[in-house]
Amino acid sequence: MSHFSIQNGVLHADSVALPAIADTYGTPTYVYSKTALMQNFGAYADACAGRDALVCYAMKANSNLAILDLLAREGAGFDIVSGGELLRVIAAGGDPGKTIFSGVGKTVDEMKLALEKNILCFNVESIPELHRLNEVAAGMDKRARVSLRVNPNVDAKTHPYIATGLKANKFGVAFDDALETYRAAAALSHLDVVGIDCHIGSQLLDDSPLLEALDKLIELIDALGKEGIDLHHLDIGGGLGVNYGAEGDKPPVPVGEYLGRLFKRIDAWRADKYDGRPIKVIFEPGRSIVADTGVLLTKIEFLKPGAEKNFAIVDAAMNDLMRPTLYQAWMGVQPVTPRAGEQLAYDVVGPICESGDWLARERALAVEPGDLLAIMTAGAYGMTMASNYNTRGRAAEVMVDGDQVHLIRQRENPADLFSLESTLS
Ligand SMILES: *Cc1c(COP(=O)(O)O)cnc(C)c1O
Repeated sequence: MSHFSIQNGVLHADSVALPAIADTYGTPTYVYSKTALMQNFGAYADACAGRDALVCYAMKANSNLAILDLLAREGAGFDIVSGGELLRVIAAGGDPGKTIFSGVGKTVDEMKLALEKNILCFNVESIPELHRLNEVAAGMDKRARVSLRVNPNVDAKTHPYIATGLKANKFGVAFDDALETYRAAAALSHLDVVGIDCHIGSQLLDDSPLLEALDKLIELIDALGKEGIDLHHLDIGGGLGVNYGAEGDKPPVPVGEYLGRLFKRIDAWRADKYDGRPIKVIFEPGRSIVADTGVLLTKIEFLKPGAEKNFAIVDAAMNDLMRPTLYQAWMGVQPVTPRAGEQLAYDVVGPICESGDWLARERALAVEPGDLLAIMTAGAYGMTMASNYNTRGRAAEVMVDGDQVHLIRQRENPADLFSLESTLS
């Protein structure tokens, strides 16, 4: 069920009317629903109940401290991709002991920080990274727990920018090189080889590529066991998609169904080969936890009719929400107070000096200047990808909890934006 719905002719987030939020906090503003967040995380938590499983929220999807705090309280771990994200986990009261560190380019300083904080595991993506991590750990007289990110070479059938599990990708260790890479890792003095992981792509609507990847991981775990390398966990990554609402879009497989199939396969394998001895299972969902918890609230500044196209120029722009221009992503546009009357086809664009500055194209809308629009399903990869291009302060963020509204990030002032800069004198 959507937590953003029209009630009495006005779009609400749970029971709060969005115009009230625009009045208080201005626009553009990201608006999130706490209930939606709890429900999305709950779907994972319920499917994992009673198992040795850990849901490590991939916080690059949305790393606001309020969101991290709420998820940490529900028992979430975190999947981080930088030292900065680890500092966010800690600032939000999350547990570094439930945090895994992904990414192809970890620096020495990031490794040191993560070892100091005693994170659960490094998801290592290459042999040079193994050597660097071993050296850093040795220098600190510590041991680093590692998992290898394996590239199972399955086609996730998604947008090329968000497909990560194919051979031609920069991510992970090639499936055919995995055994050798594990042997190299096991031979290093300050590493404990504890797991295997993969992440094949994002916005997957069907779970068959994920189950195919699982089979590849299982094959490797068995082969490694024969060599005396026993893994304690299996991490299948994130990637489950959401419904952005475009016409003809196929809905994603529900979380419970996907996890049900995955655990069934794992249980059968463990029963068959390991006398039923379980293996810890880790997930790294990002988008499926936060995407539909948020909208970007924006105001129409001008309408500009054209010979070929009509433009609705809004106060949000590509710097606030990159997905449309970066991935040619389709995002829903909902007038906050829908009007009767004739609809025209509009491109919804921002004020930035780039032709790529659009949020939606060819949408039938009946709107007037000053109207509010909600860009739907904007909770993932929205605010975290925002920039200050054109010296635009980033949007405010608020979270609705029932009938309460909490400001969870203040709008940036222009003065904040150049406060770290200095002239030559
Ligand atoms: C981005 C990312 C995720 C999360 O992907 P979603 O599609 O948002 O679920 C998980 N793991 C890794 C390694 C990632 O880079």
